[in-house]
Amino acid sequence: MRQPSAWQAALAAVITDPAELLEVLDLGAQLLPAARAAARAFPLRVPRGFVARMTKGDPDDPLLRQVLPLGAERQEVPRYGADPVGDLAAMVAPGVLHKYHGRVLLTATGACAVHCRYCFRRHFPYGQASAASGQWAEALAHIAADPTVSEVILSGGDPLMMSDRRLEELTRALKALPQVRRLRIHTRLPIVLPERVDEEFANWLGRTPLQKVVVVHANHPREIDGAVRQAFGRIRQTGATLLNQSVLLRGVNDDVATLAALSEAIFEAGALPYYLHMLDRVQGAAHFAVDEARARTLMAKLAAHLPGYLVPRLVREEAGADAKTLLAPGCGGNPGDGPR
Ligand SMILES: *Cc1c(COP(=O)(O)O)cnc(C)c1O
Ligand code: SF4
Repeated sequence: MRQPSAWQAALAAVITDPAELLEVLDLGAQLLPAARAAARAFPLRVPRGFVARMTKGDPDDPLLRQVLPLGAERQEVPRYGADPVGDLAAMVAPGVLHKYHGRVLLTATGACAVHCRYCFRRHFPYGQASAASGQWAEALAHIAADPTVSEVILSGGDPLMMSDRRLEELTRALKALPQVRRLRIHTRLPIVLPERVDEEFANWLGRTPLQKVVVVHANHPREIDGAVRQAFGRIRQTGATLLNQSVLLRGVNDDVATLAALSEAIFEAGALPYYLHMLDRVQGAAHFAVDEARARTLMAKLAAHLPGYLVPRLVREEAGADAKTLLAPGCGGNPGDGPR
């Protein structure tokens, strides 16, 4: 039998028990009852290598905040729902979201290595909605029938949870479609489980003849360590363009110094900032919200601090819109009076 690879072993060893997470971080058990209760609705899940980047004894650690289930998640908050960005209405075939011109997004798998508490797909019905094995045919047929689709985005869940063999099968089918020129991968694995970017993976990506864009997801500069930098380097060696998207999160990265350090850290590692997303109003995540006026002010200060190429675009996703809504920068005027 084949040995599991290092990344599969790291994946099998993720922490799922709140008691273990608190113990590893020298945190008191007083956080445990709320963590257990919130984890019943959306389980705790975090790789050990990501936990190792947290500060022991600090319950407010910005990396911990992203993954620790809290009592606040169980409050019902008006205007926060289960499908905040209209994904179900945009589903044109199982696992195929087609919202914007020229690109389709495949929810290739529902699985993730980490469960981010603010995840906008935390209530997503992946069972029915992902193009899981055996359902590729319908998704591919939809793309094949639409000559306007020049870019296919693999998303999820996290598409790098799929084996290299399945990724290869999928890209083989895509490259047979003449209109598809670009392959984009939206993944958090190079950040939370950088072991995933091993030589086999890099070989697959390097062989793929489509133009490649890899969009990773880091929210705080401390997420970038030596293993992450090595993973970024491997991805870049395949010729892929490497971008980062973040979510603006209260208590994690909602200050200018952290956002500036994040842009610098990802650039030093070889990626450019792409989007800074306003929180999607998903039930259970309201305690992460940053209001729009403050977000614009933060962006104005960030733009006054950094070269333009290190300033991400602040965007909000609105159900039914034909692109992400740009809030800053580049909308002119002072923070707070940009176009709507
Ligand atoms: C965000 C998103 C995209 C990608 O949008 P870009 O602006 O091209 O990054 C594509 N499809 C769906 C359904 C999305 O939600
Ligand atoms: S990695 Fe992405 S899809 Fe997975 S839980 Fe985090 S935000 Fe959600």
